[in-house]
Amino acid sequence: MACRRRPGLRSAVNRFDALSRSDAFSRSDAFSRSDAFSRSDALSRFCARNRFDALSWCGGGEWGGANIVPVLLMGDNVDAQLQTLIDLQGFDAKIAGLESEAARLPRQIEALQTALAEAKKTVETIKTKVDSTRKDLRTKEKDLEVANVKRQKLEARLYEVKTNKEYSAVLLEIEEAKQEKAKTEEEILGLMEMQERLAVDIKDAEQRFKTREEQARQDEAAVRKKLATVEQELGIVRAQRASRAKELPVGVLASYDRILKARGGVAVAAVSAAGVCGGCRVGIRPQALQELRGATGLMVCESCGRYLYWQE
Ligand SMILES: [Zn+2]
Repeated sequence: MACRRRPGLRSAVNRFDALSRSDAFSRSDAFSRSDAFSRSDALSRFCARNRFDALSWCGGGEWGGANIVPVLLMGDNVDAQLQTLIDLQGFDAKIAGLESEAARLPRQIEALQTALAEAKKTVETIKTKVDSTRKDLRTKEKDLEVANVKRQKLEARLYEVKTNKEYSAVLLEIEEAKQEKAKTEEEILGLMEMQERLAVDIKDAEQRFKTREEQARQDEAAVRKKLATVEQELGIVRAQRASRAKELPVGVLASYDRILKARGGVAVAAVSAAGVCGGCRVGIRPQALQELRGATGLMVCESCGRYLYWQE
């Protein structure tokens, strides 16, 4: 087979050599230097998974002195890989949005339940007040009865006393009992008024709670429905992302994932005519810009490490 040469061929072969010596290559491709067939097979798999899109062989020992020398053609699938990276970025941005929505919605449900619990607490507080008012009222009514009995006894004593001094003393006690009775009656009146007010308050609070409960039930159902939709969509987009990710060489995907994590969820950035990285806004060197426009290989921003693509 004729040796096919392309610009950048030697650097491609150097890259292959470096990679073939790396652990990742020997582990994943079961590379055997003694077996030409398995080596060819391993190389095919290697090419499929890396940026080399084709492979042919030429005799002689032009590079490395082996009988068979791999000639790696690169460049043809750069566009496809870049497109895959751009698509992955799109999926990941969508996943991030859906994930934050999926985290936000349960908090919304929690807030609805908290507001409802507070409305219920208001009703309970008023109910407690109604009970304590009723008890107070009962106590005061008993006090009034006691005061009445005391006064009757004092009035009866008026007929039994022998001296003017005793008479005056009993009159004074009767006067005190009268004042006590008036005070208790005043308190009873106050408690009864409070009971009336509380009866109105509790009716209002119960009505408010009922309305809020119904509204909260509807709101919660709507939020739960939305959450289910978001989770379903998340599942779909994650699956789409996973299937698209398989198209990338393992190394490129690992690098993409690493950048995505380190760079706030943006691993691929556009470079526009202004010549700045869309991710970090740092200017791209003119030479790198030229290479990027030529798209001979995947390029990363020298400043932030994100994958770059040229956007007219
Ligand atoms: Zn950058």
